[in-house]
Amino acid sequence: RSQGMRGKRRMRMQGKVAVITGAASGIGRRTAERVVEEGGRVILADIQDAAGQRLAETLGEATRFIRCDVTREADIAAAVALAERIWGRLDLMFNNAGRPGVPDPIESMPAEGWDEAMAVLLRSVMLGIKHAAPVMTRQGGGAIVNTASVAGLIPGSTATAYSVAKSAVIQLTKCAALELAGQGVRVNCICPGVIATPIFGRSAGLPTQLDAKVAEEAARTAAGMHPLGREGRADDIADGVLYLADDRAGFVTGIALTIDGGLAAG
Ligand code: NAD
Repeated sequence: RSQGMRGKRRMRMQGKVAVITGAASGIGRRTAERVVEEGGRVILADIQDAAGQRLAETLGEATRFIRCDVTREADIAAAVALAERIWGRLDLMFNNAGRPGVPDPIESMPAEGWDEAMAVLLRSVMLGIKHAAPVMTRQGGGAIVNTASVAGLIPGSTATAYSVAKSAVIQLTKCAALELAGQGVRVNCICPGVIATPIFGRSAGLPTQLDAKVAEEAARTAAGMHPLGREGRADDIADGVLYLADDRAGFVTGIALTIDGGLAAG
């Protein structure tokens, strides 16, 4: 009987199509896996060709990889167009690609470095919304989820450029939510705490490929920062994205969903 019940469990992304940027690693990757587990299809958009292709092969025909540099408007337009061309719709646009900002202090900050960080962390989100919204409007609605950060809520928690970009992502989310509400398009963002993914290692000046010992150390450091006493996991964030994408969040727009083990509460 329980087997039967399980068989009847509602697949939350059944029939739905997602585009996920930064899908080759970390939060984007885990979210892509979860969308597929929940019956959905995903365009995996990233600049990491090998990792992206491998993931698409692993996840099978419910996914396609497309090389997409989110600083290039044409690449974002192409990722959205691919979803529409092969699967005929777009239900979730997850604007998630990211990188560390530029190191403080402001007094020695290179202007070009600032611009480059903003292009990946902020302008890309505007472009993702710009290209997803018309498709969603045509089909009568959709959900856009942007990855902000607790760094966008708490100044001084990380370097300035990153913090400013993430704070702006929260405001952009609210502006877009108001603009698109009449078209049935909901726009929300998530604010992860410290999540054990490669970006965390890079921000801390660690090598990109964390070896087991360094990763363990990073997880311990992260655990110490969260009142709930453990590091954040990509799964914690994927859960939030799936909620915001779901029809059960049909009355939710313009929010910043903080998933941070209590970090921002303190
Ligand atoms: P990650 O490094 O594992 O993944 C980031 C992905 O973005 C990588 O696959 C990378 O190739 C891709 N990417 C980078 N620049 C790109 C570009 N120009 N075009 C397309 N793709 C690009 O890190 P993550 O932790 O999974 O990060 C995902 C998002 O979560 C980022 O926006 C990050 O700022 C945010 N975030 C992370 C944490 C954390 O602690 N890990 C906390 C808060 C917010």
